[in-house]
Amino acid sequence: MSLPFHFCYHCGSDQLVQRSWRELKCSACSYSQYLFVTSAAVALVQDAQGRLLLMRRAHEPAKGKLGLPGGIIEAWQTAEAACSREVLEETGITVPEDAWSYLGTFNNRYQFQGYIWPTLDIVFMAKVDHFDAAMAVDGEASEVVAQPLNEIAVEDLAFQTHIDAVKRLMARV
Ligand SMILES: [Zn+2]
Repeated sequence: MSLPFHFCYHCGSDQLVQRSWRELKCSACSYSQYLFVTSAAVALVQDAQGRLLLMRRAHEPAKGKLGLPGGIIEAWQTAEAACSREVLEETGITVPEDAWSYLGTFNNRYQFQGYIWPTLDIVFMAKVDHFDAAMAVDGEASEVVAQPLNEIAVEDLAFQTHIDAVKRLMARV
């Protein structure tokens, strides 16, 4: 796996030595920089009929596939706030931050700018009355889809973590 960094953050030299999976140490200035896991919030939103909110992905990775709304948690933002923000941005559906309940975490690998970033998907569940306001808003989704849970082709979802999360939700119903 190629490293996402080639130069020292601190002095700009290219003399980085990988000491472990997470530590890159600069031979020129001794500064250590670390590869951290990126956290993402992922949403399982159901309406009163038990349909699940899905989005058809407009961009790579997994362009054209159905996936769950979600995205990277921004600095100083809670996972719940990120979940509400991503759902609103991607699907037009409003879910209050205090409406989420926790399902679990799943390890993901997110391909971005030529590198594979270790990602932890934090998955939350919520119920809303209806999806009347659903629409592809910000260009992340080409369409927003509501599917009855038992009609979802789980194995065709965009990411393994989405497959695992939906399976775990199905096991609870
Ligand atoms: Zn340095």
